[in-house]
This record gives sequence, structure tokens and C-alpha cells, in this order.
Amino acid sequence: MSATPKEAPTTPRRLLARLRRLMARATDLAPRLDGLVRLVAAEFVAEVCSVYVMRPGEILELVATEGLRPEAVHRTRLRVGEGIVGTAAAEARPLNLPDAQNHPAFAYRPETGEEPFASMLAVPVLRGAEVLGVIAVQNRAPRRYAEDEVEALETVGMLLAEMLHGARSASAEVALSLPGSMARHFEGVGLTPGIVMGPVLRHGRRAAPRAVLAEDPEAELRRLTAATEAMQRAVDALLEGPARAAGQEPREVLEAYRLIAADQGWLGRIAAVVRDGLTAEAAVERVLAELRARMRQVADPYLRERLADIEDLAGRLIDHLGGTAPEPAQGEGFILIARRVGPAELLDYHARGLAGLVLEEGSPTAHATIIARALAVPLLAGCRGATDSAVPGEHAVLDADEGRLVLRPDAEIVAGYTAALAARAARRATEAGYRDVEPRTRDGVRLTVMINAGLLMDLPQLAETGADGIGLFRTEIAWLARGGLPELETEEALYRDVLAAAGDKPVIFRTIDLGGDKLLPGFSHAEEENPALGWRSLRIGLDRPAMLRRQLRAMLAAAAGRRLLVMFPMVTTVEELRAAKSLLEAERRAAERRGAAPAEVRAGAMLEVPALVWQLPALLEEAAFLSIGSNDLTQFLFAADRGNPRLAGRYDFLSAPVLDLLEQVGAAAAAAGVPVGLCGEAAARPLEALAVFGVGIDQVSVPAAAVPAVKAMVRSLDLAAFRTFLANLRRSARGGASLRADIAAYARDHGIATE
Ligand code: PEP
Ligand code: MG
Repeated sequence: MSATPKEAPTTPRRLLARLRRLMARATDLAPRLDGLVRLVAAEFVAEVCSVYVMRPGEILELVATEGLRPEAVHRTRLRVGEGIVGTAAAEARPLNLPDAQNHPAFAYRPETGEEPFASMLAVPVLRGAEVLGVIAVQNRAPRRYAEDEVEALETVGMLLAEMLHGARSASAEVALSLPGSMARHFEGVGLTPGIVMGPVLRHGRRAAPRAVLAEDPEAELRRLTAATEAMQRAVDALLEGPARAAGQEPREVLEAYRLIAADQGWLGRIAAVVRDGLTAEAAVERVLAELRARMRQVADPYLRERLADIEDLAGRLIDHLGGTAPEPAQGEGFILIARRVGPAELLDYHARGLAGLVLEEGSPTAHATIIARALAVPLLAGCRGATDSAVPGEHAVLDADEGRLVLRPDAEIVAGYTAALAARAARRATEAGYRDVEPRTRDGVRLTVMINAGLLMDLPQLAETGADGIGLFRTEIAWLARGGLPELETEEALYRDVLAAAGDKPVIFRTIDLGGDKLLPGFSHAEEENPALGWRSLRIGLDRPAMLRRQLRAMLAAAAGRRLLVMFPMVTTVEELRAAKSLLEAERRAAERRGAAPAEVRAGAMLEVPALVWQLPALLEEAAFLSIGSNDLTQFLFAADRGNPRLAGRYDFLSAPVLDLLEQVGAAAAAAGVPVGLCGEAAARPLEALAVFGVGIDQVSVPAAAVPAVKAMVRSLDLAAFRTFLANLRRSARGGASLRADIAAYARDHGIATE
């Protein structure tokens, strides 16, 4: 049966009024669904309206239709990802198709009799971010549905979500696939190490609105205004609270956040939707859905960050409207599970007892990662589907070391992890004793162990670990955390603070290392096929000399009267190092003229590009020191993307190609009297650090958390004996096979602390 339109197409207000009447008339789910599809078909002047509901096993079942054959109801089933309906569910976004049957995802179901219908609009039924089903309209004539029609169907989808959720227990027929009580395992990439157990909190997964349709729009608008003001006051308080303690960079991110919290663009849009007849919570969800749709289309990192800020703020607004999910008490260590989370939010969660973080998205250089690392919060990224499966308040195990999340772990898993955590705590207690202990081997060799840092928050760790200095200060992290280029004075103040915190210990400032996977919002990074091999790092600095010189000026000014160590990243040819050094020298002379130059300036190079190995003689004449960036060096050496989890473990740092290269660099540098260290993450693992020392590199710079373990390893090591063993092992090794097992066995047999 096709709908016979007798009136003008729908308006949101009329549609909502009719839906409200329908809900009042029918109380059982089946008649409500039948009424709903009829009403929507008529309002949309569509020949078909159908509702599909998610069954256990990710199957979408047709449960009500106007316009398709009635016998297809409960027979037509599609997997998530199958057909247009399954695709809308899989991607959690509307599909608006004038020619649906020729769409690559179209799946023909003869029992439905849908051959005559050309156009289709399929909208997921979402409760929070969980997909409960799909509602679709179809028309004979090919047409693209107007934007306000898409929005109207999304609003119907919200109401439907409320109906389906409410009917869950009442009707076995439309039982929904809700998170079960079984343990669920997820694999991810550990971006900050650590293991935690605790209750789960879902970010951005606030309780779905209790009601979608408002009885009194004016009263609803007043609620919205009150909640908006409360949210704005809370953001102000955040700016005064945790962010102040956390340092300058997060505070600046929050300042931008405060401006967006007062922005009338998105707030006005929510008010407009409330005036149409939705509750305030539902209106925020509505606008959030639009926002997420926009985010999917926006590639520009600056815009994406701004949209992500609005998403965070909208979530806060829902909290203030009273729809907040149960939250753990202050101080209780909880595991936050989120699709993504903003840096400001993360600071806020930290103040409330954040113990671990799981992200569905996330990358090594995302703002949240930078903050999580600074806060030493274990972070697991890439756990797709975790948000939907997590139930707030239930327990989880987060093992960022092994890249694993277990929701609702069974008793055995909990017991295993409890024992492992106890052992680790005992080890930590021992390691704490290493703060005042020098990294000296049993045979008396004084090695150097420094820390990698990037934020003010990292600095106290220098004293806490008793490390020998900052072997790598990643200056771009402050730029990334701030979301833009800093003022010269701000940057100078940061470097001054770093030097002050380091006292008489050395600090190696690395000039900005942007590009690759570290994209600065607002800075024009052209699309590149291979960004890791592209316009990044020193290449940008040399092409934008004014920018690089400004940074060097800030460093020189901060180090007036002291020693300044500057390191250039991604040096590929000695000529590039010379060019960078001449910019540094020009700025140094200018500083001298101002009477504020450092007492000494030394310029070093990072060795990350293999081509430099064949320029060592010339390089060692130019560089005052070398620092091997093992993260990039190994990615280029093995041609294996450092951020691709599929390649993790495929090539081993502990194999001849790497160890031979390190030895060659170490020997050449020693002969030239040029200090050389290794500052990539590799040396954070004691076994790898052992091998680095074993091939003749006697300085490493590692994340602060790794310092005690590396020191413990050094203290238990007879370096001369190990070097003999390693040299023999490498002589007998063939090809690029891993030497890990042999090195680990030696360490075990000789009591070297590498576990
Ligand atoms: C490296 O590549 O090893 C390095 C230390 O630099 P980053 O990790 O910042 O690229
Ligand atoms: Mg690098």
C-alpha cells in the first residue's frame, strides 16, 4: 500500500505533534511501530517506511513496514554492514541515495517487493552511540532527500530508540542486543604503558535522553539556559583548577575551549531544535549527531579539533541537564572508555581519579595522548567497539603493556592480574630506591640515563628519577598541546622553566619535529601520500627559516649565560645540518649583540635517516653530538610504518641490521670524540637498553617511567662480559633473524635485571 499524500510535506513541529499523539494512543510496541511507519510514510510523502531492529549477533530484522510486503516482516534480515540498511548501521550515519539499487552496498531481498523503489534514506536508530536499529524511507521516483528531511528522520530515530529501549524487557520479539554479562576482550595499541583494574566510566556515552518530546518548549528552553550557564561556570572553574596545576599548555587549550563554550553558533542551534518541540537533552543529541556527520567529512585537523571541542562541551551540557551516567566517587581509580576525548576533559577526569584510558580512535600524537603521557595514565588506543560494550560501573582490566582490554573479566583473569600487579608494585618499591643510585655497571662503567620530555608536567620527573638530564626535549609537543604556534615570549618562558628545572643537568632541546603524524591544527600540511617520508621536521624548518629562527631565538634567549644544546631532527644530508647550524649561528650572533647570548651553544643532529650512516665522516665534523632516534630510524631501516600495529613485532630491534648499524655509528663517533646517545623508545625496555650499551653506545634517553628499570639493569650488569657475549652472538648470527631469545637467556643466566 502506498501513502497518498493529502497535505504539504512534513515540518518538524507537526511531525513531533503527531508522534506525540501516536505515543499517547498506543502503548504496546507492535501497534506503536505500525502506527509510526504509517505516520512517517505519510509525513515524508514516501511510498515506504520500514523499521529494522538489531538482534543478537549483529543482525538487523525488519519488524514493521508501510509499503513493503507484509510477509517480509520478521523474515528479512541483514547483517550489519550488509545492504544499505546494514551500512547505515555499521557506519552509524544516514545514507541518502537517489539511486539505491545501483549503490555498491545494495542487497536485493526478493521477499520485500522493493524493486520499484529507486531512492532510499536510511537512518540509524541510535541510543547514545549504540545502534539499536535502522529506519528507512523509500520512494519510487529517484530523489535526494532534503537536509531537513534527513534531520526529521533522525529525530524519529531518537524517538524510536526510546521506544525500543523501553520495550526491551516487555517484548521478547524485539529483544535487543545489549551489552551482555560475558567477558569481552579487545585488542589495541598501548600508547602509554601500564596495567590497571577498576570500574569503567564511559565518556561521551551519557545516558540517552529520558524523553525526546517536550511537553512545554518554553520551560525546556529555560532548563537549557540554566544548564548552559552552569556548564560555562564549570568550564571556568576547570580553568582555575586542574589546568592551572597542570601547566601552561593545557591552560591555553582550555582558554580556546572557554570561547567555544560561549559560542552562540552551536548553542543557538540547540535552542532552535528545542523550540521545534524536542527536550533539551534530545536537542543536544540531535545537534551532536549533525556535528559527528560533519566531522566525518572534515579532513582539516584544525576544524576537527574545534568540532571535537564542541562534542566535548555538548557532552558536558547533557551532564548539566541531569542526564549524567553514574560516576565513580572522587578518588576512585576508574578506567575511562571513549571514542575520543579532548585534552581539557582528560585533565578534568584526572582530577576525579582517572586511572586508565581506552580510546576507540587515538594516535601517538593526539592531544589526549600527549596529556595522558604527561599524566602517566596507561592508554590503550584503537579499541573499536569498546564504548558500546562497556557498562558504566562494571569492572575492567586495562593492560596497555600487552595491548589488551578485558571488560567484565572473569575471576581467573582478575586473579592473574592481581598477582601481576602485586609483583609489579614490589618491583616499583625496589626501583624507587634507584633515584639516588648512579647507573654504574658491576664492572664500574658509568653509563648515562636521561629522560625524554615535552611538557612542563614532565619536569618533576627529572628529580624524581634521578636521571642524568633531559636527552630529548620534544618542543613540538607544547605546540601541539596548544593547537598552534606559540608567542615568542611564551616559548621562551617554557624553555626557561625547563632549564631552571634541570639545574646543572644537561637539556637537549630538539627543534620542532612537525609533519608525519604530528600535524599542527591551522598549519598548512598538504595531503601527502607518505607523510612519514614527506615534508616534515627539519625539512619544514629549512623551508620556513623564519619559523625555525624564531624558535632558535627563544631557545637562545632562555639559555642566556648558560650552555645551550640544540638538536636538529630528521637530518638527511650533512648540508641540511650545515644550513640549520648557520641559522642558529646567525641568531646566536644577534643574541650576542643584544648582550644575552648563552655562554656556549652546541648543535647536534638526530640520526634517524639511514642515509646519514654513509656520511658519517662529514657528519661527525659538523655535529657536536649525535642522538639516534630509534623510532624513526627503525621504521626507515625496515621500511615499516612505526604507527602500524599490524607490523608491530615483525622486525626486531634486537637483530643484526639494527645492532650492526648502532655499533658502526658508536665506533665512528667515539673515534671522532663526538658523544652519541639513543633517544627513541627502544631503550625504554631494559633488554633493548642492554643491547644498546652492549654495542658501544653508552648513553640513552628514555621516558621517565623507564628510568628505574634501566638503572636496575645497569647495576646488575657486567658490561665487558656482556660485550664479549654479544659480539660472539652477532658473529654467529645470519641474516636479519631476531637475537632476542639468546640475549634474554644470557640476561637470565647472569642475573641481569631485564624483566
Ligand atoms: C625517534 O624517532 O626515535 C625520536 C626520538 O623522535 P620522535 O619519536 O619524536 O619522532
Ligand atoms: Mg623521530
